[in-house]
Amino acid sequence: MHRNASQLFIRLFAPLLIALLFIGSSSPVAAQSAPQVVNIYSARHYGALEPVFQRFTQETGIEVRLSQGTAQSLVERLRAEGRQTPADILFTIDAGGLWTAAELGLLQPINSAVLRQNIPANLRDPQNRWFGLSQRARVIVYNPTKVSPTELSTYAALGASKWRNRLCFRPSSHIYTQALVSSFIGLHGEKVTEQQIIRPWVRNNPKFIDSDSRIVETIAAGGCDVGITNHYYVAQQLARNPNLPVKVFFPNQQESGTVVNLSGMGVTAAARNRDNAIKLIEWLSVTGQGQGATPDTLSGGNYEFPANPTAPVNPIIIGFGPFKIDPQPKSELGRFQPAAIKLLERSGYR
Ligand code: FE
Repeated sequence: MHRNASQLFIRLFAPLLIALLFIGSSSPVAAQSAPQVVNIYSARHYGALEPVFQRFTQETGIEVRLSQGTAQSLVERLRAEGRQTPADILFTIDAGGLWTAAELGLLQPINSAVLRQNIPANLRDPQNRWFGLSQRARVIVYNPTKVSPTELSTYAALGASKWRNRLCFRPSSHIYTQALVSSFIGLHGEKVTEQQIIRPWVRNNPKFIDSDSRIVETIAAGGCDVGITNHYYVAQQLARNPNLPVKVFFPNQQESGTVVNLSGMGVTAAARNRDNAIKLIEWLSVTGQGQGATPDTLSGGNYEFPANPTAPVNPIIIGFGPFKIDPQPKSELGRFQPAAIKLLERSGYR
């Protein structure tokens, strides 16, 4: 009897309760107290970002929510979800991913005087659909007890037979390898890239290690003499151990320069919290907020070079010395990515 009565109560009153909740949630009072949020599809891990986003939330009241994945999988999600996507921002570790998303119509142009002022033109989309927020150099790293810097010059020179069985590389499946090879194709074309860089590398029987951190550790431990990683992995380990036997060499200084990629953001075409998304990207572009040398900034928290040229640079990475940057447009890192993946595969690069 008791059970039947409560079932009857639910049948009678549940629709009324739902209706009341519905009215309540759409009333102006409830709308005002609804939490302000910005939802990010992020190819970056949350760890070093936590203090940065916490500071943004404290200053603006906007909560930052992250959903993580590789840029490729996040772009696929954005495509599949279309207008229904919960994502307001795509945040990648590579310009190629942002370029691809923009080409697919998944990002919208943002007309922001703040971003035009803070982010140099070469670090953002000409149509303002994405903005670089930090810079990462793809450098040669070496063990100075095994190798003299006078033996090093270009990425391609690591194909010389003297480096046989001495190299550590990231596999072809990772975006860092794909972006680097895309830049080679942009500079030299496919034929020269394959015959004069990638196949000679493969002939040297490199160890493939799917972590830049572990490449640095392997070189420090004597497991390899030379490798290619992003500069900040060396900085992170030097911060913990200043005597780390690994040094950074900026390749191609007599040629077009060292390849530098970026980490950045774009506002999704279907963003529901568009204003909050713009507020976050603008906030991250400002020196002392997202841009700087300290751990509570986006660039400093990961020992990256700021995108904003007015921002201070962490002393550990200044210690790597000045270097010339390859001036190719960052869009090339995306444009040639499909060709790079095929080239790596047919060259036997694992
Ligand atoms: Fe990284």
